[in-house]
Amino acid sequence: MYYQVTDFYDPIGQKEISSKCPDCGSQNCLELHFYQKRIETPFSKKVSKKVTGVLVCRNTETEISPVLWTNEIENYFNTEKSKLKLHSTGLKFNKWFYFILIVPTLLILGGIGYSMWEHNTYMNQSASIENSAVGDKVMVMQTFLEKNSTKSYGNTWYQIIGIDSDTIFLKQHADFSNEDGFDFDLEDKNFTGETIKASLPRFKERSVMGFDYTDMKFSGYITDIQKKE
Ligand SMILES: [Zn+2]
Repeated sequence: MYYQVTDFYDPIGQKEISSKCPDCGSQNCLELHFYQKRIETPFSKKVSKKVTGVLVCRNTETEISPVLWTNEIENYFNTEKSKLKLHSTGLKFNKWFYFILIVPTLLILGGIGYSMWEHNTYMNQSASIENSAVGDKVMVMQTFLEKNSTKSYGNTWYQIIGIDSDTIFLKQHADFSNEDGFDFDLEDKNFTGETIKASLPRFKERSVMGFDYTDMKFSGYITDIQKKE
């Protein structure tokens, strides 16, 4: 990732000094300007303790390079510097920092929460399916096979109308749809389709396999259950 780091120098004070100017030789033309360093990135702002000074001659309006400073100027600089009131230093983060830090965390937590919720829902559903009783309704994602190749698939519901040892009897809903989110009306009166016989142990593992059906081979997977009220 590329981002820009920028140094800023904030003015924090200035002072006229009476020393003789190393450039033009006049008296009372020198001014010390003090700056405090601030470092900014798109995510943070750091005010440092670092103070720099610039010496300017008002006569010639030029900056006097530190190599030309006399000891006297140096002393002025150090004395004045020690009297300065600095901006409070430290590192501050802006909203972007929190944004890039927090948003992915929330997304991750959200993802974990969602998959736990999903897992829980699945486990609860599986427990409900295992304890199926007459009157319960299950949604089945069903694939019809013809000569061992897939013919069609879609969703339908079945109502459990009987359980006899290892066999479960299911009555199909009038509707069969391969539309996502098709709205099935689950009132008892709408279960007017075929009655099928399936294996109870397989049913408890979410699988509905029609047997004894030479003309209508299918396999189905239970995706939802509605317990009898
Ligand atoms: Zn000067």
